[in-house]
Amino acid sequence: MPPPATHPSEAKPSLTVLLAGPRGFCAGVDRAIRIVEEALRLHGAPVYVRHEIVHNRYVVESLERQGAVFVEELDEIPDDGRPVVFSAHGVPKSVPAEAARRRLFYLDATCPLVGKVHREAERHFAAGRHILLIGHAGHPEVIGTMGQLPPGAVTLVEDAAQARRLRAPEGRPLAYITQTTLSVDDTAEIVAALRTRFPSIAGPAKEDICYATTNRQAAVKAIAPRCDLLVVVGAPNSSNSLRLREVAERAGCPRAILVQRGAELDPAVAEGCATVGVTAGASAPEALVEEVLARLRTRFDLCVEEVVVREERVAFKLPAALTEADPAAPPLAAATTP
Ligand code: SF4
Repeated sequence: MPPPATHPSEAKPSLTVLLAGPRGFCAGVDRAIRIVEEALRLHGAPVYVRHEIVHNRYVVESLERQGAVFVEELDEIPDDGRPVVFSAHGVPKSVPAEAARRRLFYLDATCPLVGKVHREAERHFAAGRHILLIGHAGHPEVIGTMGQLPPGAVTLVEDAAQARRLRAPEGRPLAYITQTTLSVDDTAEIVAALRTRFPSIAGPAKEDICYATTNRQAAVKAIAPRCDLLVVVGAPNSSNSLRLREVAERAGCPRAILVQRGAELDPAVAEGCATVGVTAGASAPEALVEEVLARLRTRFDLCVEEVVVREERVAFKLPAALTEADPAAPPLAAATTP
């Protein structure tokens, strides 16, 4: 039977969607979620999680339905022997110390790439250097990184203007480290300003901004000049998602918006656009990208093209406390270095 004829007045306008690749979940977020899921599978509910495991409500609510209980501080957890997981952003040293003092069974879901920055900070401190941390005040990763060392050992630098007027401690060698989810371009400008002022400052051999942040920004830069609008799927407290929106506008897209999920997107926003770009922050699952496409389909006839600038094959192992606890657990992808 031939398909029913569509009246011309009912035909939807066509819209090209460029999907940025890579987008969405990174290896650190994937690992953190699997740690909570494995803890629930092995130990049952509840499993406590200190802070949002990753900055995404959809992920948090889905883990809550499985029995995870989210708290902001350890003092909200009773001494009932249940596991507690620390979030992917990392925690100050005082947190595992307090957990050990209370004999809590804790699992650390700090992304290994954030852990690498923690070790860099410790190495510089041991070498007698004062540390400049490039990052955003109040972000949990920054709080965790500064909390690896005693108060006063680290100075936060948020932008190039601050780098230019910074007063460093007299007579101390300097080193810089960075938050992992910053804008690649802004960070290069801040590092250049620091190097101009302090030519002998020590820094990482390879920058601290992680492979996932770098790749997602590169993918947005590749599609932004072709887009009339770019939709970033991510949370308003997700650093790497906010950076994607900035990168899109700087790379030539006239407008970039952040939505948490499909229901937040009014498809009328794409009215008059020929091409819309879609990407997702490292803590946003692909299901939310699908929701955004479904919303756009309610108003437009979509032609979806994926633009992949880099392939990613990074996976991190789960903590031994989970894998060794259950020899029947499914085999994990081997860890690879980004
Ligand atoms: S964005 Fe980068 S640092 Fe953060 S969890 Fe993902 S891989 Fe790790």
